[in-house]
Amino acid sequence: MKRISKITLMLIAAASLSACGTVGELSSFPVSDQPAASVSGSDTGTAADVSDADVTTAADDTTAPSAADSSETVTSADTDTEETSSPAEENTSAGSADNTTGEPAQQQSTQQQDTQSQTSDTSSDSNYGPAPVQYDIPGLTYINGTLIANKSYSLPADFNPGLDPTCQAQFNKLANAAAAEGLNIYLSSGFRSYDYQAQIYDNYCARDGQAAADTYSARPGHSEHQTGLAIDVNQIDDTFIGTPEAIWLENHCHEYGFILRYPQGKQDITGYKYESWHIRYVGTDLSYAIHDSGLTLEEYFGIDSYYHE
Ligand SMILES: [Zn+2]
Repeated sequence: MKRISKITLMLIAAASLSACGTVGELSSFPVSDQPAASVSGSDTGTAADVSDADVTTAADDTTAPSAADSSETVTSADTDTEETSSPAEENTSAGSADNTTGEPAQQQSTQQQDTQSQTSDTSSDSNYGPAPVQYDIPGLTYINGTLIANKSYSLPADFNPGLDPTCQAQFNKLANAAAAEGLNIYLSSGFRSYDYQAQIYDNYCARDGQAAADTYSARPGHSEHQTGLAIDVNQIDDTFIGTPEAIWLENHCHEYGFILRYPQGKQDITGYKYESWHIRYVGTDLSYAIHDSGLTLEEYFGIDSYYHE
């Protein structure tokens, strides 16, 4: 909380750019001066805290199809994103500075999660990413071991885990793989606290009205960024659509345990407009399964996403 308030002033300038599950149409907004370096630096500050959390594996194995079953078939995703050849290549390589931490924590979580992933074929893959640690905290919603945050399922205001270290470590692998192909994918916004999300959302409501804001910005407590498992990459607006980085991300993020959380044409299901830059870490077992299914997280688990008011 204190950490967040210290950087609030700096971030407020960029707040409207880094909202999200969020930023839908920011084309009218001045985007050129986004201080990505400041945002990404603050996102990872408390990552190490997470490893102290209790690990619970009490999730009900109920409705979801087995992730292991589908992890073998790796189909190449259709690239439906419009090739608008956007000039959004003002990559500042700001994120690369963040890609050096998290290894010890990642090892720790790997050990913690070993029991539930030994059977996966992907466990021998160096890109293998375990499921995130689970918190035994009232008010969190886990479905089949996966933490849910959307318009229907909220998080407690004091849930403040920081960016998950396994998520960070897997993102580093992703970014390195992309770099090996000459692409620059960097973290622009990771963990966001309840209070910070409230500021972002309030700003959007003041600017566009609540109805419009709800289509691209999460209300406090409903942002997936508060889980510590969501990352916005690169330019956080529609200019990212169709870039080589966006296409690579859509086709490969599941290989590192991420899913493209708000795909095109799924607004009525996810509750948010298409966000080519927002990925969610779920671990490779589930990311392969969801990717191969072609479903959104909501469809995969059979849940909805709208404000139950
Ligand atoms: Zn986002």
